[in-house]
Amino acid sequence: MFKPVLGIIGGGQLGSLLSAAAKKLDIRTVILCDDENAPAKNFSDDFIHGKYDDLDKIKEFCYKVDIITYEFENIPYETLKIINNEKKVLPRPEINKIIQNRLFEKDFINKCNLNTTSYVYIKKEDDINSSINLIPGLLKTCTLGYDGKGQYKINSVDEISKLNIDYNKDYILEKLVKLKKEISVIVTRFGHQKYEIYDPIENFHQDQILKYSTLPADIDSNLLSKSVEWASMIAEELNFIGTMCVEFFIDKNDNLYVNEVAPRVHNSGHLTINAYNVSQFENHIRAVCGLEKIKTRKVCNAKMINILGFEIENYRQKKFGENEFFFDYQKKEIKEKRKMGHLTIVDKKSNFLN
Ligand code: AMP
Repeated sequence: MFKPVLGIIGGGQLGSLLSAAAKKLDIRTVILCDDENAPAKNFSDDFIHGKYDDLDKIKEFCYKVDIITYEFENIPYETLKIINNEKKVLPRPEINKIIQNRLFEKDFINKCNLNTTSYVYIKKEDDINSSINLIPGLLKTCTLGYDGKGQYKINSVDEISKLNIDYNKDYILEKLVKLKKEISVIVTRFGHQKYEIYDPIENFHQDQILKYSTLPADIDSNLLSKSVEWASMIAEELNFIGTMCVEFFIDKNDNLYVNEVAPRVHNSGHLTINAYNVSQFENHIRAVCGLEKIKTRKVCNAKMINILGFEIENYRQKKFGENEFFFDYQKKEIKEKRKMGHLTIVDKKSNFLN
């Protein structure tokens, strides 16, 4: 079988874990990244350091690879389009154009007749004043926000003028949901109605950053089937190829809302490396490189803990049990709250393969 050389845009932990999965499949990887010290340098076969709009670097990158994917969604659409003219980019750049803008993303989900929280586009202070039905709410930048960055919590109208909001940016105001749970569903789509779907994973955040994830999610069968159905509908509607993640909110009345879509492998899916026969990373590579689709089956239950900032120093000294799998992203610099690694603990007592 022809094994393409895979180009990956972005060299963080997701690029590293994708490269490691590719190696297992005998697929060569070339990373393009704007950070000279990107951790994925340690895992890929080749590494090009360059800005994402440097046409010479893009040319070199395209020349070296057969097919291209990406580990983060904030690459400018225009750049992805230029790259796509040279070598095929999967998932399609048009998907990214929708997903990298919260407003377009939420409009898209609603057009699919799926629920999101109530929201409105905000361009000036008056727009917030005329949307008091959405307060208490969260004001989120339409682009470039993640892990709670670029977000303002608005508890009352009086607070708005004190928040020093920069109205040069575009925002959405989103009603605050009384959360009972947050879950994610990871899907790999190989083509028309061809999927491998992971069971819903339950996610626990601290300061809006994912702290840990558990499999299975503690939800009833109705929410399980609904979330899986919605995630596959979104993948189909986007004509997605590869692995993507749909993050959901569940409120106190068990209503399900799509929070956001990640058009890529996702942090909550790291536990699939140890809890499934085929990980989210391997499935992504299989789908974008046109390799065989293997029936994806759960091996055991698991919990994944994100290791943030200086916590990594303790983990680097620790001894681990045979049910514990420590991943050190080998990032050069430790920064507070930076994702430095993760630990997956599998439940050996649960064995779903027999
Ligand atoms: P986001 O970057 O939009 O995924 O937000 C990060 C986290 O903030 C989410 O995982 C939730 O824990 C919390 N959050 C975001 N939006 C809302 C909302 N509308 N209501 C309640 N919690 C929210």
